[in-house]
Amino acid sequence: MENILHDTWDREHLWHPYTSTIDPLPTYKVDSAHGATIKLADGTELIDGMSSWWCACHGYNHPRLNAAVERQLHDMSHVMFGGFTHDPAIRLGKMLLEMAPDTMHNIFYADSGSVAVEVAMKMAVQAAISKSGDHRRTNFVTIRSGYHGDTWNAMSVCDPVTGMHQAFGSALSVRFFVPQPRSRFGGEWHESDIIPLRQILDEHTAEIAALILEPIVQGAGGMWFYHPEYLRQAVAMCRERGIYVIFDEIATGFWRTGRCFAWEHAGVQPDIMCVGKGLTGGYMTMSAVLTTAEVADTISRGEAGVMMHGPTFMANPLACAVAAESLQIMREQDMGAVVERMERNMRQWLAPAASLRGVADVRVLGSIGVVETEKPVDVGRFQRKCVDKGVWIRPFGRNVYIMPPYIIDDARLKRLCEALIELVKEEAS
Ligand code: PMP
Repeated sequence: MENILHDTWDREHLWHPYTSTIDPLPTYKVDSAHGATIKLADGTELIDGMSSWWCACHGYNHPRLNAAVERQLHDMSHVMFGGFTHDPAIRLGKMLLEMAPDTMHNIFYADSGSVAVEVAMKMAVQAAISKSGDHRRTNFVTIRSGYHGDTWNAMSVCDPVTGMHQAFGSALSVRFFVPQPRSRFGGEWHESDIIPLRQILDEHTAEIAALILEPIVQGAGGMWFYHPEYLRQAVAMCRERGIYVIFDEIATGFWRTGRCFAWEHAGVQPDIMCVGKGLTGGYMTMSAVLTTAEVADTISRGEAGVMMHGPTFMANPLACAVAAESLQIMREQDMGAVVERMERNMRQWLAPAASLRGVADVRVLGSIGVVETEKPVDVGRFQRKCVDKGVWIRPFGRNVYIMPPYIIDDARLKRLCEALIELVKEEAS
């Protein structure tokens, strides 16, 4: 075990996500990954339940994605986007607009999900000031239990309790928060869910640039699936008050929820939309912010006359090339049917968890399966047992969840679900 656990140099010098340097969680050394299998340095093979945090949607080492990167390498791996453009950026842009809500018109390529959220929030502020002529219109409203990333403004709209507000105190801008909608996806709609949002929007219309939220699925803030009616009413209320709507589709995009984008469950379109994670098939970091022509042109008519952002690696050609190939792979399949099959299977294979002691809820939407426990899970212990069982699941808080790569076969998906249930059972005993 020593060669895969606690690499001494790594443990001493490398920060891993959300870990202590004094008492770090175990980290396992990965040798390679193919399809839905991750191979550790000692030869142990793990069935991947996480798609590397939602992004490796076609699995690892995909021959067509590898080839796309190699082809692009021979032309150029990078060139600045200021004053230049290139085919990979144009090709990807055209594909994105074909998939996106039909009101989307302009695309801003950014570096990561968090940066996309920063860009979207900056766009909303620039557009809101330009449209209203009012410099007070700079704040945001969002729903509790959301998660939008780890950079400054993104943190400010993450859940104020489970997010990072405690650690950063008054350094974060103060936003308007409304309760998480309690009406479940697929369940009954409770009109009371929307009342707090209406109140905040009425009381603070003149201060709010935009509503930002994750449509349908709240991811890292609690893995909660809520009723589409919430989105329909929220968007209508914002439109009536001249408030922009930002959908953060970074986790939900590219078929995770069974539709190409989660907004489709509600049929309402945003003014600004962020995509990331699965965009490059998990090959490298890249995101995009899509807007209506109205948002883009309102920004351009504003004081600055331009969108005030321009990252060094904007529209990186390698990332654009692999993203375009990833979208092409999706276009060639009936993705709705692929994800529907995963959903049906996970519903069946995770169902026994519902009657286990210590389990509060079981929910499945698209290719996302969640077993919510009554008590928080010990991540270190849980993952050690995962490795023993040959699966890779990384829970957080009270959520043990999987969103495997779309290429996983039925036998592996079944084993993943069985192992998840065994692990939850062992945790509770
Ligand atoms: N928004 C959502 C909904 C996310 O799930 C995430 C990543 N977990 C982000 C934003 C941030 O993306 P990144 O980690 O690429 O910065």
